[in-house]
Amino acid sequence: MQLFLDVDGVILDFEKAFMEYIRSTYHPELPPGYRPKTWEMHGEFGDVDIEVAWEDFTSSEAFQQLELIADAKSFNALSAQFEVWLVTNLPDKLRASRLANLRAHGLKFKGLLLGGHHNFSILGYPTKSQVIRLLRHKNEELVFLDDHPVNCQDVAQHYPGAKVFLMTRPHNEKGEFPFRRVANWEEFYAALQA
Ligand SMILES: [Mg+2]
Repeated sequence: MQLFLDVDGVILDFEKAFMEYIRSTYHPELPPGYRPKTWEMHGEFGDVDIEVAWEDFTSSEAFQQLELIADAKSFNALSAQFEVWLVTNLPDKLRASRLANLRAHGLKFKGLLLGGHHNFSILGYPTKSQVIRLLRHKNEELVFLDDHPVNCQDVAQHYPGAKVFLMTRPHNEKGEFPFRRVANWEEFYAALQA
């Protein structure tokens, strides 16, 4: 079995740290622990230029110190058993800090690839299914986990036999999608043991 796992919102808690940045920089009235209701956040914070905020935040120390959502012990147990790849939706300039963040948590994995539905206006930036194509062993079972339905859709469409999981987060909890939902990392881990 090969596993291709998203990072933000699945392995690392990007939202928590980014919201803390938004709160401290722009919106002190937000309650601590506030969770965004949309992935893009444009509608929620109309007065904030999210691209500028994102650039600012991702070049800060805090971006390299995102907390773990997954549990390192069970994550590494999966890595010991299966081929685990991480596919994160970031531009190349942030790859090193993402890697440092993941390593600091002691996570073991085969590699960190860049790809996803958000292309940062970078020509040729790959989708997740395109990243998977380069690494996939044809006759092996493919497992995919993401919190963005568009990425799940992309992979499900290109690999009809894949087991595609959507991790429920506040920004996707309202929609109905044809993917198996898992509430958290523990539920995902348990689903693979079944
Ligand atoms: Mg994500």
